[in-house]
Amino acid sequence: MRLARISVSLFLCVNALFPCLQSRAASPVKAIRFGKLVDGAGKVLTNAIVIVEGDRIKSVNTNNSSIPRGAEVIDLSSYTGIPGLIDVHTHMTYYWDRAPGTRPWAQLGARAPAMSMFLAQENLRKTLEAGVTTVRNLHAAEYTDIAMRDLINIGAMTGPRMFVSGYGLHVASPTSRAGAPTPSKGQANGVDEVARAAREQITAGADWVKMFGSTGSAQDVSGNQTYSFEEMKAAVDTAHSLGKRMAIHSYGPGGARDAVRAGAESVEHATDMDDETISEMVRRKTFYVPTIDHNRYYAEYRDQFGYGPEVAERLKAYVERNLETARRAFKAGVRFAMGSDAVFTMFGQNTRELGWFVRAGMTPEQALAAATTNGAALLGMEKSLGAVLPGYYADIVAVDGDPLADINVVINNVRWVMKGGAVVIQNRTASKSH
Ligand SMILES: [Zn+2]
Repeated sequence: MRLARISVSLFLCVNALFPCLQSRAASPVKAIRFGKLVDGAGKVLTNAIVIVEGDRIKSVNTNNSSIPRGAEVIDLSSYTGIPGLIDVHTHMTYYWDRAPGTRPWAQLGARAPAMSMFLAQENLRKTLEAGVTTVRNLHAAEYTDIAMRDLINIGAMTGPRMFVSGYGLHVASPTSRAGAPTPSKGQANGVDEVARAAREQITAGADWVKMFGSTGSAQDVSGNQTYSFEEMKAAVDTAHSLGKRMAIHSYGPGGARDAVRAGAESVEHATDMDDETISEMVRRKTFYVPTIDHNRYYAEYRDQFGYGPEVAERLKAYVERNLETARRAFKAGVRFAMGSDAVFTMFGQNTRELGWFVRAGMTPEQALAAATTNGAALLGMEKSLGAVLPGYYADIVAVDGDPLADINVVINNVRWVMKGGAVVIQNRTASKSH
């Protein structure tokens, strides 16, 4: 385990010293052998060979003669290949250094956002180690998510490909002075301000608009609706008119009902949804991103946050209701995407959500689809992400075991990760990251 860790860091150093261009120039074509390949499009191949050229997959087959002369052969024949995983709800810039006597939220608030973003490269690495090669990030201060996305895209940072929202739209806090002018930074009240704030995020470079449609965050699991249907509709219509998509956070059922009716592409958290909302999601093909594991994390790591045992009980009760809602929604035919809602020290545990999906009634194959093809569809990237197929980005993960027999293989046994044709994690033998 110690040796493996060293080899991972050595590899990352080498990668940092010699940027991707150089390694690509040395061997532009890679041939990867897998014992089995779950292609994400319904096929399982035995003794599969994936040919990668540049950042894309050129071919997928079982024919040895398909390996071009001079290709770099990567032998992963003792592993199963799966598509790179997609986590559609992260807070990548939320970083805590674990310094004794400090708390994650207070430290984040006290530090310059740009500094948190730089330090959060650790979150990026842990996310890749979990096999996640694409994320949707929903809310970050000072457009640090946009900077992070762009730094990754130019190769200055190593991390999953990111789709980002800038600031999440939120109502004025109860402590705001009455009559004070509404500042920007995502704060917006009323239809006009909401439309303006949504446009601001997109102008700044956001791929998505995120709205906090209810209370509920961290130790607070209340789900009181904060934006009206009309305000949600204004945000959704603005996003759509500019070719962008909309995610609405609601801890409770009221905000979820209006988010679905307003036309959001995904509804986040959404515990206790009524049957009518669930049927409407089926009808509209709205994605449900329940983020069940997020509150498991807060309860389990409550000491880091300074939350008392009564908070943990409240969080656990919410998790149970969240799971029950997911069970009902899945049974009714709602489409799911995997979102961890990872913050601070939760990175690396991004895929534990899949265990809850299986508990909610999915087969391992259906859970895997939530983290691959469904995530890609939610992002509008179904033609280039979420499957190991010719023409798709070469985002591929090797796991030890059969992911279709046991979802824990995906959660705990990631051994190697390729993103856009570059190996970003390899020789990983530790079974968990903490
Ligand atoms: Zn969140």
